[in-house]
Amino acid sequence: MNHSLYNPPKAPQVGSPFDRSREDGFLGVGSEMGIDATVASFHFPDPALFAGVPSDIACHWAQYFYTRPKNPTMSASLRSHIFALYNPFAKRSQFPAGIRFCANVYTGCEHACRYCYGRNYIPDPTKPREKKNFFQGAKDDLTELRALDLPPAPLHISNSTDAFQAILEKKHHHAFHIMELVAAYRRHFTMITFLTKNSPLISQPDYVALLDSLKPCQVEVSLAFAEEKGRQLYEPCAPSVGSRLEGVRRLREAGIPVSLRIDPLFPREPLPAEFWPTPRLADYGLEHTHTLDEIERLIRFASETGCQKIIVSALKVPVGRWACPDFKEAFRALYGAPWGGKPKTRSFAWRLPEAYIREHLIGEVRQIASRHVVGVTTCWENLVNTK
Ligand code: SF4
Repeated sequence: MNHSLYNPPKAPQVGSPFDRSREDGFLGVGSEMGIDATVASFHFPDPALFAGVPSDIACHWAQYFYTRPKNPTMSASLRSHIFALYNPFAKRSQFPAGIRFCANVYTGCEHACRYCYGRNYIPDPTKPREKKNFFQGAKDDLTELRALDLPPAPLHISNSTDAFQAILEKKHHHAFHIMELVAAYRRHFTMITFLTKNSPLISQPDYVALLDSLKPCQVEVSLAFAEEKGRQLYEPCAPSVGSRLEGVRRLREAGIPVSLRIDPLFPREPLPAEFWPTPRLADYGLEHTHTLDEIERLIRFASETGCQKIIVSALKVPVGRWACPDFKEAFRALYGAPWGGKPKTRSFAWRLPEAYIREHLIGEVRQIASRHVVGVTTCWENLVNTK
């Protein structure tokens, strides 16, 4: 056990963070258990992260993920890592994603999807760039994981960028090299999940060989549209629909587990009367780009190619600092109507009513998928169930 990062205090004091009446927000463990009491005394912003984790192991996780606060009354903050703590953008008490890693290989994304949630927190999201000291940072992280002897956890590559962006990857090969690096430290991870729109690239023979060496792993290919019209409108710089379908087919032929993300799901016609006063998208200034027929074609393709499952989530309209202003304005009337005119905002995004999402937007997709004998899971369920 490595306690060298911090100097533990001699003993817990009455009224200190070890006072059990204050256990919520602390690791809730004491020096009598033989662990690093200083780490145990930190206040963590999301204590449910360590729920069910043995206290000595929780302390090691905490040492890896968090900085040491200047004094015990302050909250610990996240350290900067390439293999960073997965951020579900919700407290783990509501979103039990547990401890998992996310490695965002680049910053920003050339695909420039107008609905990209990363626009809420990534400066200049459509200016893709490499990360400084990427390799050294990645190697340092893996060395530290090994030194702390952390138990294996799921790894996600990448959730706030596309790791397989054609221009950056051709120039820097960071996704390729991180796959090689992870292969050398494979035992530190459970399932490795790759999320990309660029199935044409990740299905190339060199990448497939690496995927093969990383099993158990899975590729989630994001393909919301079966028609170029919607793709060009909302994902202007992403690979074409046809090339993504072909990439999925190649991955499956190579025996790589693939899930198809029909994600995000855009509101469809007819808009139900219990939520909207009129049923046509044109009444809100929008085109009907995401028909059930189009979705059924994607589901049929997923079934025929042996994809593991379909992953879905409802369109959230980002309204944060770097959100696409045209996109936001285009969806204002549609997203406002169910709430009396003013869109409902949560975590910097406009939301649809949960009942509409459950019963119509996703419910209808589930019905179609059951006819094609393929499972549907929400993005939320998918993450929680990826172990
Ligand atoms: S591919 Fe993903 S990360 Fe890239 S712009 Fe689109 S939604 Fe954002």
